[in-house]
Amino acid sequence: MCGIVGYTGFQDAYDIVINGLRRLEYRGYDSAGIVLEDGNNKLEVEKTKGKVEDLVNISSQLKGKAKIGMGHTRWATHGVPSDRNSHPHLSNNGKLAIIHNGIIENYDTIKTMLTEKGFTFKSETDTEVLVNLIQYFMDLNTETDFPTAVRYALNEVYGAYAITVMHEDYPGVLVVGRLGSPLAIGIGDKEYFIASDASPFVEFTKEAIYLEEGHMATISLENGVDIRTITENSKIVPEIQKLKLSLEQIEKSGYEHFMLKEIFEQPKSVHDTMRGRLLVEEGVIKMAGIWDHIEKFKNANRIIIIACGTSWHAGLIGEYLIEEYARIPVEVEYASEFRYRNPIITDKDVVIAISQSGETADTMAALKLAKERGAFIYGICNVVDSSIARITDAGSYTHAGPEIGVASTKAFTAQLTILSLIALKLGKHNGNLGNADFMSLIAELDAIPKKIEDVLSSTHELVQDIAKDFINATNFLYLGRGYNYPAALEGALKLKEISYIHAEGYPAAEMKHGPIALIDENMPIVIIAPKKGHYDKIVSNVQEIKARKGKVIAVVNSGDTQVSQMSDYVIEIPETSECFSPIVASVPLQLLAYYIAVYRGANVDQPRNLAKSVTVE
Ligand code: GLU
Repeated sequence: MCGIVGYTGFQDAYDIVINGLRRLEYRGYDSAGIVLEDGNNKLEVEKTKGKVEDLVNISSQLKGKAKIGMGHTRWATHGVPSDRNSHPHLSNNGKLAIIHNGIIENYDTIKTMLTEKGFTFKSETDTEVLVNLIQYFMDLNTETDFPTAVRYALNEVYGAYAITVMHEDYPGVLVVGRLGSPLAIGIGDKEYFIASDASPFVEFTKEAIYLEEGHMATISLENGVDIRTITENSKIVPEIQKLKLSLEQIEKSGYEHFMLKEIFEQPKSVHDTMRGRLLVEEGVIKMAGIWDHIEKFKNANRIIIIACGTSWHAGLIGEYLIEEYARIPVEVEYASEFRYRNPIITDKDVVIAISQSGETADTMAALKLAKERGAFIYGICNVVDSSIARITDAGSYTHAGPEIGVASTKAFTAQLTILSLIALKLGKHNGNLGNADFMSLIAELDAIPKKIEDVLSSTHELVQDIAKDFINATNFLYLGRGYNYPAALEGALKLKEISYIHAEGYPAAEMKHGPIALIDENMPIVIIAPKKGHYDKIVSNVQEIKARKGKVIAVVNSGDTQVSQMSDYVIEIPETSECFSPIVASVPLQLLAYYIAVYRGANVDQPRNLAKSVTVE
């Protein structure tokens, strides 16, 4: 979490840093800060609790003053969001400034050591300890230059970090380092950019270096980019990548929020995810990542899917898909539990790690553990060249495009698309899915983007009306069966994340084992009830709810009568195979969460306490 931006070059550093922070604000947004070097070897810092726009309000005097600077949007881990705890942090002698994404786990021990040496601390952060440790190494031996002191300090800390550091006696120089949190260096013509992802510099350059784990770089206009390993100080020849990101992709394109834009992009994102992979006319699914390792999948004892949050919900649907069509046993685990519970993993296991950002710290740690124990690791990530994408043995990108709204929408449906392709491909290959069924399923899958388009146009207004009736709700239940049970979990998570209304998802049949006690005339219950998928059982569940006067919002197939007649609100979606119905059913649930949150006045794109890319455990 947290966004880092840095710049050294010939343009106004203030503008570049502030605009970059605006683009990275989705990563963390409880505080923001900037530091510039004004050409007189003096660091000027402004920082505040709040948003980037709050920072702009207090810092406009810095505009036009400097050609080097850096900024930060924070997602607090150590110390409450406050002006003092905001980044950048200065060292005791005021010469060094740091911005940091991540956690320094041994900060307390170092803080004690530094305190004994006379250092004092203004904030409660782990970050301020690191900047003073760098000063400490420079003080210890005046021969130690700035980059070397950063390297010494990084060798003393453990945890996760992406840092950028400036020193007022080193004009034009930025020193960066990374372990566990992402950092990209944009290479312009006589200018360099630093950022947590490429979005802050995409209009200035298409060339970037993604700093590798355990590497640091000294960036200066004079000497370019000098990359070294942190432990050995060995020089590294960087790989310069060509960026495919466009400015348009990271802007709102007339939508009020990124989340709404991303909901409406789903016909395209699902289509893009299938493009070149699903060839309906030829009757094949082409996925190099799977095909090149088909024996691994074929001989797997089981597949373990590891993920967090929304990706974990996608994983649950993946379990249903793969077990049904490929008949390979699947387990789905929260990455955070998996990594700490000493799981049994062998070289006969295939692990699928799912992460939109490809930076999720828990998922990364879990897959490293599985890799150490010999499992074959397959990644499903949205962000190209992300850390998880790079560490896995093989994988498939979801081509959903940049997802900026913190609550995931299009990345989720793209993950479901990839998992559908994998299940069908494996099932066809290992003979568990006959040709006729395979052909009809791929035709169904191919039709999904159009069905999402239809759902968006037919339900958009209706859902807005429904949302108005639930602005004051305090609780919600979401129910579904089979494939739509995880879709219910995801629907509930969406509502929780952005509207702050408490919501729970359950398999519909579980209701009678507890949650039914909650039902009265004030309890709204969203029930996903497509025709294919235990429909008769769902009918009984709706009856049980109505007998207790619950308010039912039903998501049903067009032309439905039975559930519709009993429900207070009806949202119709087109029919599809049960296994793909979560992709379609999720769309009105995303809209419902979105509009309830908007009507409650919540910040939909940046919900409180959350951040997009969870790079801390
Ligand atoms: N651990 C640091 C802090 O709490 C950095 C958090 C972040 O990644 O934003 O200030």
